[in-house]
Amino acid sequence: MKSKEKIVADCPSCGEIIYFDRQPKLAELVSCWYCEEELEVIGLEPVLLDFPFQDEDYDDEDYDDEGYDTEHAQDYEDSDW
Ligand SMILES: [Zn+2]
Repeated sequence: MKSKEKIVADCPSCGEIIYFDRQPKLAELVSCWYCEEELEVIGLEPVLLDFPFQDEDYDDEDYDDEGYDTEHAQDYEDSDW
């Protein structure tokens, strides 16, 4: 029962399902039909999409900041016990 399977992927931005007319290629850029976000194909089986222009450095910095704050707060609580 191998009929033509629909190729689909989840939009990482809005969560809508994106349908492909044909097999996409790795690193191909597609636009979400729903939120119009530009996305890059990062996986093929199954098809995975991610943001192509994500600034990792900025993201890391942001995350580190939050992580440090949480750790610090926990440390403080621990010594209080
Ligand atoms: Zn979307």
